[in-house]
Amino acid sequence: MVQRPIIVVGSANTDMILKMGRLPKPGETVLGGAFAMAAGGKGANQAVGAARAGGRVVFVARVGRDDFGARAIEGLLRDRIAVDYIFRDKVQPTGVALIFVARNGENCIAVASGANAALSPADVRKAASAFEGAGFLLTQLETPLDTVQAAAALAARKGVRVILNPAPARPLSDALLKKIDILTPNESEAEILTGIRAAGERGAQAAAAALKKRGVETVIITLGPRGAFVSGPDAEGLVPGFKVRAVDTTAAGDVFNGALAVALSDGLALMEAVRFANAAAAISVTRWGAQPSAPKRREIEAFLSRF
Ligand code: ADP
Repeated sequence: MVQRPIIVVGSANTDMILKMGRLPKPGETVLGGAFAMAAGGKGANQAVGAARAGGRVVFVARVGRDDFGARAIEGLLRDRIAVDYIFRDKVQPTGVALIFVARNGENCIAVASGANAALSPADVRKAASAFEGAGFLLTQLETPLDTVQAAAALAARKGVRVILNPAPARPLSDALLKKIDILTPNESEAEILTGIRAAGERGAQAAAAALKKRGVETVIITLGPRGAFVSGPDAEGLVPGFKVRAVDTTAAGDVFNGALAVALSDGLALMEAVRFANAAAAISVTRWGAQPSAPKRREIEAFLSRF
């Protein structure tokens, strides 16, 4: 079976990471950090997660006409992602995230959205031909909400199934939720969306029920090392996570979403697809960084074959 393309509509950032002994307090300067730069942004991370997991990915995004934008596109091309619909903004710079990571694992992040904030419904319409024959749209909330809505509406018209990872969380209308086939919040996002504490299986079940009542077909609440609680049209339950030695959980959710889209595109049943996504995300937390930690297909398959 030839796999149908996955359209990712979302953000692309340059992450600037400072690893330091402890986080600075307001007004304070902390010396002695190590600096690293890496491609990031939830959209780009999920696009890379999906491409490495074996997906045919088209990424719709907006970056600046700056070096960071050029480097972001080069990186995506190395992962064989179609970049025809990555627009270069004449005015806004490429989005940047400044990330402080302390030795104890605490972090502190500030994001200048730049060109991501200018990704518009018109941009989505320019990419309409890519939606023709696509299997899934995968999108998040780091770009303007009207753009997410336009993408979901276009997908619905073209018979493309919609996965929305509602991160960073913000309140969503029922009109948007009705267009979502699969919603993938983590615990805290599920709580912001529903007001229900989604910690643990019981809480997740209640939060999922509330979201389904608002029009979502399938809800998958990721529960960190415990895995993911799945509530679909005809299956419900916890798909347990894999026990690994976690060193950095950055982008675990992004890798999960990318791999989930691929597994579903490959025709796996819902629970099996979530198991595949749990495996990809578990491998990613054993490695440093966001995009560098996303595993390739053969690594995921080798990992799964050990269980
Ligand atoms: P986010 O990264 O968006 O906060 P989660 O923390 O829920 O989301 O993690 C997403 C997925 O990553 C989980 O459903 C699980 O599959 C995997 N995962 C996260 N942390 C771990 C861990 N410590 N060990 C194994 N798998 C993990």
